[in-house]
Amino acid sequence: MITETLIHHCTKCDSPNIRKNGLDRRCRTPRQKYHCLDCNAYGTLNPKGYHDEATKEQALAIYQEQASIRGTARVMGIHQDTVSRWIKKVTLPSQPKI
Ligand SMILES: [Zn+2]
Repeated sequence: MITETLIHHCTKCDSPNIRKNGLDRRCRTPRQKYHCLDCNAYGTLNPKGYHDEATKEQALAIYQEQASIRGTARVMGIHQDTVSRWIKKVTLPSQPKI
């Protein structure tokens, strides 16, 4: 039998002095939340992963080839709102801050 021990650290101060603090149930699979006893920060261990930059680039490349947003989302297996948000961010100029 092989057992593996994983020591989690605070994402803010990198301290191993953390304790369990309930579950983040917003995701399909609940994720462990923690409270850091050193910097008093609260957080989530292994937060929900976001799409990586390569996926984003590939989706934008597919959209550039005249594919629809829904078609791009279907091929990539990601939600169409996500593709739409990426396209808006690339095509629309950023608003100057007042
Ligand atoms: Zn901390």
